[in-house]
Amino acid sequence: MNKLKKRPLGVWEQILCGFGIFILVVGALLWLFQIVLLDPFYRAVKTAQVKTTAESVERYLDDENMDEQVKELCFNTGINIVVTDEMGRLLSGWRATQKDSLLNNMTRAGRAELFNNVNLQGGTHLTSYRSPFVNWDGSQDEVILYVTITRTPSGQNRMVLLESEITPVDSIKETLVVQVTTLTVVMGLLGVVLALFIARKISLPLTAINDSAKLLARGDYGISFGEHGAREVRELARTLNYAAGELSKVEGLRRDLLANVSHDLRTPLTMIKGYSEVMRDLPGENTPENVQIIIDEAERLTNLVNDLLDLSKLEAGVLPLEKTRFNLTASIRQILHRYDKLADYRFPFQYEEEVWVDADELKISQVVYNLVNNAITYSGEDKTITLCQTVEQDKVRVSVTDTGEGIPQDKLKDIWERYYKVDKEHKRAQMGSGLGLSIVKNILDKHGGAYGVSSQLGKGSTFWFELPLSPQKALPSPEQES
Ligand code: ADP
Repeated sequence: MNKLKKRPLGVWEQILCGFGIFILVVGALLWLFQIVLLDPFYRAVKTAQVKTTAESVERYLDDENMDEQVKELCFNTGINIVVTDEMGRLLSGWRATQKDSLLNNMTRAGRAELFNNVNLQGGTHLTSYRSPFVNWDGSQDEVILYVTITRTPSGQNRMVLLESEITPVDSIKETLVVQVTTLTVVMGLLGVVLALFIARKISLPLTAINDSAKLLARGDYGISFGEHGAREVRELARTLNYAAGELSKVEGLRRDLLANVSHDLRTPLTMIKGYSEVMRDLPGENTPENVQIIIDEAERLTNLVNDLLDLSKLEAGVLPLEKTRFNLTASIRQILHRYDKLADYRFPFQYEEEVWVDADELKISQVVYNLVNNAITYSGEDKTITLCQTVEQDKVRVSVTDTGEGIPQDKLKDIWERYYKVDKEHKRAQMGSGLGLSIVKNILDKHGGAYGVSSQLGKGSTFWFELPLSPQKALPSPEQES
């Protein structure tokens, strides 16, 4: 069997469906209340009116103006009212219309009998009957008859009889049927127009966004999403504009990386090849200096490849933190000790006390190495790199300061990005991968430690990071103290 794939409903169809259901429900409710329930509603209202009028009459039964009050009630409400004693004697009787009725045809004996019957039934009786009065069209109206027996405060037994016509609602019903039908049709048409209008307002900007998103997907990162329409649509466009901006940045970085990495890989390789060829072809050139150059260039290559590998592992999260409690101060001293062979440079380390932290010692060492290496690369004439360790409440802050060229303020935020280099031109002396600070950032983020940089052009830079102090010091191990 051929399975048809169901196409999801569009904005226009969904809104139209919503309106359609709404109009149908409103139409059905109107039909129910205005037409189906009209008769029972009308009857209930009339019955309630007759009962309240009976209560009003009862209040005047002992009044000497009782007849006047009954007359007024009768003309105000259009209800026929008769008041008798227990023997059926007429005490008051008023008719709102001239139409013949059961009430005014009743004899005294009939009323006395009715008194007895109603009294036996519990004192009230409600019934309806066909009026003896025949209308011009031959129809006979329905009449409600309500009888209530009561004892007045002065101890008299009284019977109050009330009679009210129920006007037939059929003609009103016919009008209402036409009205409700017309109203439903008009609402339906209005609904279609409104649905079209709303759908256009919502779907037009969405279609435009969709078209732009397709271009973005094809690699056109310069695309701009129009921020029009409803708030949510504008927000979507804003988010997509942001995403397009980020993608274009990543694309730029990717291009930079390719250029940098290929340049950085090729330069040492060219040197190694060149020197090796010279040494092969010219026996006199086989000197220890030339061999050292080849070794240095090979080391440069190794460092670059290691940085690339480290960062991709860190970002992929395949290097979990191996936290231990260690003496950070001792660890920094050890790192600086390794720079001893750089005789030209000085590395003063200022600290007041030994501190312990819970962190991955190897990775934190890498942070310090990267910061010190950068400081060496970009250091100034005095070749001094100052390290400073300060303790603030429950945190330790380590800073690395150089007196080099500094970093422009507007670049301070970008230097933590992968492959970012302030100086795009490749100076041989400043050849880095552009990955060192990204590795620092990644490691510190994983430790939840703060980090930052302050710099003044021409004066130098201070890179710093913070780690939470261990609540208690571990016993310093012998190698940490060495
Ligand atoms: P690189 O391997 O190029 O040094 P980093 O990620 O370590 O890469 O640094 C990114 C950029 O930040 C560097 O290219 C350099 O322009 C700038 N930078 C880093 N440290 C310093 C510093 N101490 N002084 C001046 N500029 C620095």
